[in-house]
Amino acid sequence: MMKRKFWLLVGSQTLYGIDVLRTVAERAAEMVEYLNASGRLPYELVYKGTAKSNDEISSVIREANYDEECTGIITWCHTFSPSKMWINGLAALQKPYCHLATQYNREIPNNEIDMDFMNLNQAAHGDREHGFIAARLRIPRKVIAGHWQDESVIEKLGSWMRASVGVAVSKELKVMRFGDNMREVAVTEGDKVEVQMKLGWQVNTWAVGDLVKEMNSVTESEINALVTEYKSNYDIATENIEAIRYQAKEEIAMEKMLSREGCIAFSNTFQDLYGMEQLPGLASQHLMSKGYGYGGEGDWKVAAMTAIMKAMGENENGASSFMEDYTYHLIKGSEYILGAHMLEVCPSIAAGKPRIETHHLGIGMNDKDPARLVFEGKEGSAIVVSLVDMGGRLRLICQDVECVKPIMDMPNLPVARVMWKPAPNLLTGIECWITAGGAHHTVLSYDVSAEQMKDFANMMQIEFVHITKDTTVESLEEKLMIADLVWKLK
Ligand code: MN
Repeated sequence: MMKRKFWLLVGSQTLYGIDVLRTVAERAAEMVEYLNASGRLPYELVYKGTAKSNDEISSVIREANYDEECTGIITWCHTFSPSKMWINGLAALQKPYCHLATQYNREIPNNEIDMDFMNLNQAAHGDREHGFIAARLRIPRKVIAGHWQDESVIEKLGSWMRASVGVAVSKELKVMRFGDNMREVAVTEGDKVEVQMKLGWQVNTWAVGDLVKEMNSVTESEINALVTEYKSNYDIATENIEAIRYQAKEEIAMEKMLSREGCIAFSNTFQDLYGMEQLPGLASQHLMSKGYGYGGEGDWKVAAMTAIMKAMGENENGASSFMEDYTYHLIKGSEYILGAHMLEVCPSIAAGKPRIETHHLGIGMNDKDPARLVFEGKEGSAIVVSLVDMGGRLRLICQDVECVKPIMDMPNLPVARVMWKPAPNLLTGIECWITAGGAHHTVLSYDVSAEQMKDFANMMQIEFVHITKDTTVESLEEKLMIADLVWKLK
């Protein structure tokens, strides 16, 4: 795996003389050392020097653009750094950009403070000059203010780093579509050229026949090895071992094709399984647990978003899953959404050890009962995210939700299930989601935050809609109406 790094670039100028610049460099190095040693940043921070001229800035930004490990740059102006020096560099920047508005000292030292101190410690105006030019250039950036040793500042920096990893993953993401989208469905459609231009995704189709051919060359010993892995991760709650072995064969064949093409997300549809006995259930679930993104019914947008949000999570494979809003519990005072899918929910969000079960699947071309993982989702705060194509622009919708232990055991439900309350409450939450045009397919994530999704959307320059505890239908309608105008002008 690539060792991702973030670069700290400190802004200054030559006016201050060697002594001040030496102090600035020492302090920046100290800051980077402290932040890395804190153990709170998910990625290494590298001090790339103090930038003092247009040439130096342009040169380091060119380097950042072409350095594969560099996942973003963080700037800080310890002293005043005249911002016309930054125009050429920043205008060419292709990596995520964070402006850390911090200061070396926490306190104003009452007795010590004199004009020498003021000339050295002037982030308060240095960072304003620096902020202006990014605003003037209208380039996306994250602004984080606070003392660099504060936990909350380090946490924000770490959170932004993870969102930046989402950007890096998105820009190189390849999606393998096995067959097309489910017939007649609107929300799973989209402009693949626009998506590649905006988000970098390469979305292409492979014939199901190619997959069947690959399945036919999977060996018994490959299947044995994967079934052993299933047995160590999951409880086997079926006598139908052949169905499990068949899923293993599907998984091995899909993973070979995915890795051969460098794809980290895939979609398929129950309407196009020609030559296969069963829809991949356990196979897709286990691939998701390894970090692959999946979308049902040919939904390549949710497949890609699942892969991206997994990569943004803990250890670049967080608790995020392909999800679908299925049915409601509309009892006053106990109002919930039940989320599930035909088969494919990622076990990374399971509360306990998943069971492998086999059941008949009435929808689609399944000759035999597919094996699938059955479990309950975890309790806790989470978000659901949906990317929709509005025609001319992409809209990323994010809703805060509170997942609960399912309030009933639903013994006859043969799939993994999650139960949650959306913000601000079930009914307004549904009204807002539908008003915004959010899909029935989402990515449900416990470890990616709404703020990270907002950062991701900003960096990608796509529309972001956030439904929170404070959202009303009226306020949302106004926001959407203004956004319609704004995005027409862009
Ligand atoms: Mn579906």
